[in-house]
Amino acid sequence: MIASILLTLLLGTHSEAATNLVSNPNFDRADATGKAPAGYELTGNARWAWCGYSDEITTKGISLNGFDAKGSSAGSVSQLVTGIQPKNGKWLKFRFRGRAEDGFTVGNDLVGMKMGFYSNGGTNYLDSGQRLIYREILKDRKDFAVNGNDGKNGATAWRSYEFEEMLPFAEVDAVKLTVEFKNGNATQNKFSSFYITDFSLQQSAKSSDGRVAPTAKQSAQVSPESTAGMLPLGGRWFYRPAQGESVPIDTAGHLSGDLNVTEANSARLFYQDERLENPFAGNMTAWLRKGNLDVNRQLVNEDRYLTDNVTITFNASGYMALHVRNIPNHPTAKFPDTVGTQGYNPSYIQEHNDTYYLPVNPVKNPNAVAMTDRDANGALNMGPVGLAVNGVVFYNPYDANMVDASNIMDRCCGHPSPDNRYHYHKYPICVNTPFVDKGESHSPIIGFALDGFPVYGPYERSGEMAKDDKERPLNAFNAHFDDVRGWHYHVTPGKFPYIIGGYMGNRPQRSR
Ligand SMILES: [Zn+2]
Ligand SMILES: [Zn+2]
Repeated sequence: MIASILLTLLLGTHSEAATNLVSNPNFDRADATGKAPAGYELTGNARWAWCGYSDEITTKGISLNGFDAKGSSAGSVSQLVTGIQPKNGKWLKFRFRGRAEDGFTVGNDLVGMKMGFYSNGGTNYLDSGQRLIYREILKDRKDFAVNGNDGKNGATAWRSYEFEEMLPFAEVDAVKLTVEFKNGNATQNKFSSFYITDFSLQQSAKSSDGRVAPTAKQSAQVSPESTAGMLPLGGRWFYRPAQGESVPIDTAGHLSGDLNVTEANSARLFYQDERLENPFAGNMTAWLRKGNLDVNRQLVNEDRYLTDNVTITFNASGYMALHVRNIPNHPTAKFPDTVGTQGYNPSYIQEHNDTYYLPVNPVKNPNAVAMTDRDANGALNMGPVGLAVNGVVFYNPYDANMVDASNIMDRCCGHPSPDNRYHYHKYPICVNTPFVDKGESHSPIIGFALDGFPVYGPYERSGEMAKDDKERPLNAFNAHFDDVRGWHYHVTPGKFPYIIGGYMGNRPQRSR
């Protein structure tokens, strides 16, 4: 009785997780001609294409090619999204995944995202907004050159680009989303594309930084959404039940049974630092590809969608159980590598069936020790030492025979081990996070070490990576402390130990 009253109290004000309003968002369906993706308009040097190289497993998308034999190139991809209703929220967030190859260059910064606003079902043009993104491409090239080169080791990697705008007029009922470039001046028709693999448009009542409406003074200072009305799960974790959702809680309002989190409710699972993050949202499904091995070590003949690549169970045990199939949700090289681009790695990417138990409320161990040279003291085990938010495991910096493994990875910084487990030894730039990391503030979370402490992306603040932080230098564990995040690890591109240097918390007792 009391439990049901508490549950009712939990159902306060909340919004549903925003849905993607774009149709054919992954460019996989063809239009009537069979030559272009359904629902999109392509102009100039834009092609529907496989977005990668012959030694990669990748997906269909758009190639904006910066090379044109006639001289300057230009092109665009766009979709008119109809059915926009102001009552569903004033804020529109346009986002896409892209990877600019090293040879893709343009003059005058002319790579941009555009939103065009229309009424009368998209026939009456009203206004538009634009954001240029070329400097972000250049910044990534500069910051992550140290991670590897374009063909290997994850230098130029997949990332998200984002553009947020408020609906300018109440009569807007359609929005045209465009990614375009002009003044393309690539010098050869190779490594000269900007690949785009998905489009999304979300409509919501608030902006990403909590604004309801943009008044001049209010903008950057509104406090983030609070945890009021949410179910505390321990540590920094919270859950916001859906309307009518039954969650097992005791009379004190604590979890008394299992709470299962999948992609469907991943936007209701929050981690609190300076804001509320949904670390796993958008990362819990994956494609098991033809040529991979399934969980029974059988060769997969047809791509299969895994709705449960990552699932999480919270309960009263003090541990969160991450069940993972360990299939990456981003492009990979083809493994086994028979052409030598990945060091002739003989292993497969295989579907696994692993459960990792991470403390919900990690505790720092005063007696913890970090790795000595070549991990001679065994501070970090071989095999999994943590998990990225897409369920792919982090390893320590070494492969068999204690060779530094950070230079024999595919373009997304991963490769499979002899037991066919795909893993990262350093910052996997391809791992998507719900907050886009533009390098303009502290990076978002990209994963968790097995001791339960979070692993953040590379940046400490605008223009500075954590590895270069003089105010709060990283210790031998690759961690430091601040008041809003507590103790946390950072990935350190180009700087050993790349992910974690040891468990600063208690060494996992029941890791798998
Ligand atoms: Zn390895
Ligand atoms: Zn930090």
